[in-house]
Amino acid sequence: MTADELADLIERMAERVLAEREALNRLDAAIGDGDHGSSISGALALAMQEINMLEEPSLHAIWLTTAKALLNGMGGASGAIFGTFFLKGAAQLKDVERISQADMTELLQAGLAGVQARGRATVGDKTMVDALAPAVAAFAAAVDFPSAWRAAAGAAATGAESTRDMLARQGRAKYLGERALGHVDPGASAIALMFAAAADAYAQ
Ligand code: ADP
Ligand code: MG
Repeated sequence: MTADELADLIERMAERVLAEREALNRLDAAIGDGDHGSSISGALALAMQEINMLEEPSLHAIWLTTAKALLNGMGGASGAIFGTFFLKGAAQLKDVERISQADMTELLQAGLAGVQARGRATVGDKTMVDALAPAVAAFAAAVDFPSAWRAAAGAAATGAESTRDMLARQGRAKYLGERALGHVDPGASAIALMFAAAADAYAQ
């Protein structure tokens, strides 16, 4: 994957999340404060704007710009968590011009580790980690980009759906107790949308 391809991928993710902004807000309204769709789509739109203004849009610059847009443009605890995902891998991309599926696996694994160090959520806590962790594992087990994104998208969708029957142990929803049951976690749903957008990009 080249820098151009990465920028295209992030743009597709941003578009998919924007298209589902209201649905994500509704999921967050049920178990949080109703802003997740607006905040993540706004932050990804900001990332795209800043990527398009980069003088030297290298893989490193694109990854770091995305991290900063999420950290600064999203705000709150979740902005820090989503931003950390990209921030963790950025250093690995210095002076790299092309990445393989194995390289991307390392980036995703570093991002997931960063998210878990920062937010302390594990699988089963009803957070975005329930979609991200299985997606990263499925991505790692594949052999090339198309099959990796496809497998990751499937795993993320299943993981997001699995949050429906969970009690929340992190985030705002943890104060709801059993009232969180029956609702899919918005962050997990956003992760599933982003992997779905990547899978679609590679299916063409
Ligand atoms: P906020 O809760 O500040 O309004 P958002 O609505 O943007 O933030 O994001 C909520 C999402 O953040 C949740 O659906 C969940 O997936 C994710 N989240 C919350 N806390 C954590 C955590 N400790 N670790 C990982 N993800 C988390
Ligand atoms: Mg919210």
